[in-house]
Formats: sequence, C-alpha cells, structure tokens
Amino acid sequence: MRYISTRGQIAPIGFNDAVMMGLATDGGLLLPQTIPAVDREMLDAWQGLPYRELALRIMSLFATDIPEDDLKRLIDRSYDSFENREITPVVREDGVYIVELFHGPTLAFKDVALQFLGNLFEYLLKERGERMNIVGATSGDTGSAAICGVRGKENIDIFILHPHLKTSPIQALQMTTVLDPNVHNIAVKGTFDDCQNIVKALFNDLPFKERYALGAVNSINWARVLAQVVYYFYAWFRVSEAGGSDIVFAVPTGNFGDIFAGYVAKRMGLPIKRLLLATNENNILTRFITEGDYSTGAVVPTLSPSMDIQVASNFERYLFYLFDQDPARVRDAFARFAETGRMEFTPAELARVREEFAARTVSTDETLGTIAAFQKESGYLLDPHTAVGVKAALECVTGEETPVCLATAHPAKFGDAVQRATGITPPFPPALAGIEKLPSRCQVLEADQRAIRAFIEEKAR
Ligand SMILES: *Cc1c(COP(=O)(O)O)cnc(C)c1O
Repeated sequence: MRYISTRGQIAPIGFNDAVMMGLATDGGLLLPQTIPAVDREMLDAWQGLPYRELALRIMSLFATDIPEDDLKRLIDRSYDSFENREITPVVREDGVYIVELFHGPTLAFKDVALQFLGNLFEYLLKERGERMNIVGATSGDTGSAAICGVRGKENIDIFILHPHLKTSPIQALQMTTVLDPNVHNIAVKGTFDDCQNIVKALFNDLPFKERYALGAVNSINWARVLAQVVYYFYAWFRVSEAGGSDIVFAVPTGNFGDIFAGYVAKRMGLPIKRLLLATNENNILTRFITEGDYSTGAVVPTLSPSMDIQVASNFERYLFYLFDQDPARVRDAFARFAETGRMEFTPAELARVREEFAARTVSTDETLGTIAAFQKESGYLLDPHTAVGVKAALECVTGEETPVCLATAHPAKFGDAVQRATGITPPFPPALAGIEKLPSRCQVLEADQRAIRAFIEEKAR
C-alpha cells in the first residue's frame, strides 16, 4: 500500500514513511493510493472478532510495511492501557446506541489513536536508529492524550505548551502529573493562540526543525485516522447484531478527524447509511453541508472546547474525494480559500455531500438541555461533546434509521458543564481519583518564542 498527497506533488511513499512525514512535504495530507474494499464475506468473517483482532485485520490492510506479528504487538500494547475489556463498548441508553470511546488513560477518544501512534513512533524510530522531539500546543485534551501516548518511550521527548491557568484544572493536572523524564510541560503566560503561534514558528524554522528532529502528533497524521476506522466497524457489528439497520453515526466534530475515519470505513464498504456531523456554534462544517457555504468565522468558546475550531485540518482529505481525486482541484480550492476565505462547490458536488453526510449545529442551551433530559430519562451522564452528537441524532435521524452516537469524553472530564445541566457532579473514575494530590512538574514561561526555544534546546537529547 502506497500513500499519496492530496496536493499531488510528492512521489508515492510507504506507510512507515507516511507516518513519519505527518504533513505531506507539499503542504497536503497523506492518503492511501487506493482504499481497500471489504466485501460481505469479509464482514461476516470479522463479525465476532474482539476489538484487537479486528484492529489487526483492518490495520494490516493499510500498514503493509509492518510485519503482522509486530503490528499485533503494537496493537496489544496500545490497548492494554484501556480499562474496559471491550476497548470501545457500545451501550444502549434511552433508545440510542452510544459508543463509549473514553476508556483510555486520559478519558477522551483521542487515546484510541494516540496510544497507538506513541507505540508506532517508538517502533519506527528504533528501527531507523533515530530520535524525535515532539512539540505541540494544546488547549487541553490533545496534550494529555499525546503525553500519555509517549510517556516513558525510548528515543522520544515530548514538549507540550498549554496556556498557563487557562485549561481546566483537571486537564492541566493530567499533563503535569506525568513525571517521566521524557515529558516536558510548558505553561505559557498567554493564550492558546500564543502557544500555537510559537509552535508554528518553531516548525517553520527549518534548521531548528531538522537539528532537533521535531515531530508532531496533531490529527493530520494518517495513523491516527487509521486507528479510528476500527471502532466504526466494531460498533457497526455490535449494533447490527442487536437488530439495528440503516445505521447513522452521529459524530461530535472539530477537526474532522473522527468523522473522516467513518468516511473511510464507509468507502471500504462498511454499510453505514450516513454520517451525521454535529458541531457546536463553531459550525463552518455544518454550514458547508446544509448550505454549501464554506467560509470561516471567528472561534467562539463553548461548553465543548475540543470542538471550538473553525478550519478543520482533515477536511482536505474529504475534499480530495469530493473532487474525484484530482489534486489540481484541491490546490486550486485552497489557493482561492487563502485569498477569499471561501470555497465554492457545484450543485452536483453538494448533492453528493448530502448523500453521505447530514449535519446539525447544536447550541449551548440545547447541549445543556440534552444532558439534563438524558440524565432524567435514563440516569446516564453525557459529556457536553457527546451531548452535541446525541442532540443532532435525536433531531435528524428518521424512520427506520438507527442512530449510533460516538461518546468522545468521559462526563467527569467536563464535570462543570454536567453539574450545571443536572446538578450532579460526575464522580471521577479510578484513573483520575486523587490526581490533585499527586506531585507535578511544569515550567512556566513567558509567551516568548526565544524563551521556549532555549528551554527545548536545554532539555532535548
Ligand atoms: C478532539 C475531540 C473532538 C473532535 O474530534 P475531531 O476529530 O477533531 O473532529 C470531540 N470531542 C472530544 C472530547 C475531543 O477531544
């Protein structure tokens, strides 16, 4: 299996190189040259497989550079850290199916991909005799999941910048209480945008980037998408066994990574009827699907902060397919977008988008109302991100369709919103109990690129 860029200006590369490259060097995103097809016979054979075995079957179609035994070990090690034997169990509450993606070490769905990516990086670096310094900015969730994915790993150091005192206290503790020597937390006296701008500047300094072998873990890495494809299959099997048909996945969406994995599963041949894209008020993607309007606005803060995003990085991968895999059209669309802040689509293209996707914006009031109503009906607590998806499903799924909602975070991670909606403070699961009493380590620095560069130079190996 070879990988190509959505912008069409690199020679095809193998899976391992695609993982190490992250963002394609022509500015595009990497995709498999062909998406493997899964037929009815294969689906029947996979139906009863436990999560890890299913992951091995699916991933080995894409990761053809890695010997199957090694891939199996990587998968096993990645999902040993999940506290639920099923990894992503499917439950039924108040008439909707919920895929619980939050049983990993940081209680958000990003663990499903980042546990795997951490192990994969370690494996590939060892094979190549290389080292890597991962540098990233976080407003909360991605940072802790990335740190947890690489803590204690050989040949990797990780530097995560977060805005000092501007994440939730729990999110900061989930990062700063990880004391492994290869983990370096930097609290920046500034905003998330300051953190992100500093990280961008470091990556744009090519001599610095090369000298320190900077690596990224953001959601543009193909391995993250691949790890997420697995739970669409797993959930589809559980729901169809239980009698569900015409399955519609409702996906709380920010960077379009999670829902794009669902699109890949659908293109492989998994009979998903439609993908329902749910956003909060930061709704450029909903406007695109319902009105054909892809134009940016300002980011507004909401109760579902991991979805407070306007320009979704993985959207380019979908555009590549929408434009019939024509990289020239992708380049053209992004060049125009950079100039005008808008993208235009033909009526035929929009008709195709609407065959594959539905979309809904869910407001803050609706999010709180959904958490409250769901708790009242079933006793089940939804986190605010998951509630956005559940509300969209309740509004948009019709007739014979079966809604399947992805639960992307544990309610205790966003306890304030849950408390505001229901009056109940969700109890911490064992993974977080007592975290505020643990020792922590973190460097507080000014929002100054030079200070942060000096810190990385001092600590990097
Ligand atoms: C990252 C995240 C999302 C959004 O996922 P994307 O892949 O960026 O669309 C939704 N919910 C939670 C809790 C997240 O951490």
